[in-house]
Amino acid sequence: MAKLCLVPTPIGNLEDITLRSLRILKEADLIFAEDTRVTKKLLNHFEISQHVLPFHAHNEHKTLGSTIDKIKSCTLTVLVSDAGTPGISDPGFLLARECVKEGIDVECLPGPTALIPALVASGFPCDRFCFEGFLPHKKGRQTKLMALEQEERTIVLYESPHRLVKCLAQIVEFMGAERKVCVVRELSKMFEEYKRGTAQEVQDYYEKHPPKGEIVVIIEGKNGKN
Ligand code: SAM
Repeated sequence: MAKLCLVPTPIGNLEDITLRSLRILKEADLIFAEDTRVTKKLLNHFEISQHVLPFHAHNEHKTLGSTIDKIKSCTLTVLVSDAGTPGISDPGFLLARECVKEGIDVECLPGPTALIPALVASGFPCDRFCFEGFLPHKKGRQTKLMALEQEERTIVLYESPHRLVKCLAQIVEFMGAERKVCVVRELSKMFEEYKRGTAQEVQDYYEKHPPKGEIVVIIEGKNGKN
């Protein structure tokens, strides 16, 4: 019986990979990767020499059929993205859905992802939350922000460093200057940073200290309750 296993990979510190992930990577007949060069570096580090083929966002639709055929011809196929959990703001969903449709076993190992540690360390309620990934850059961004203004659960966003100040300014504009936020930068890396405060305070901080690296923005839900 063919199986697809989605394997999370480190988002910073290589020690974050699990023992089980390493075993499954070693046992895989075939590994599909978002960027084969990134994955080969990781595999080399752990002395894993499995065969790696590309499976990335711009060929996801086009290559779905041939990818499914390859998965069917193997016992265990692994899908990894460059970092974190496949399918979470990364390729993976389409393949998982297609495998389910085709009756192929689908499993995702527990492991690194940016949203959960950022959410939990923010100090905001994490019993219920809503993950929005990256907000649309242009069309639909304002509509989404207006809808999120009403959201009572803690909100989790992914954001790029060069758009962070704009994002914080929009949180001030749409949700008010006093809405509490926590910006989590470079999780699991040497310069990991948590900046907590009102949206206005955190915006002012990053205007003075332009951020680098990878960023998760956590926004307290409306009325500070969950
Ligand atoms: N699949 C990944 C996951 O499970 O988190 C997400 C991939 S998405 C293309 C990349 C975005 O995730 C970054 O722009 C950032 O918003 C967030 N991210 C990834 N690694 C991070 C880290 N070490 N610290 C903070 N945010 C991170």
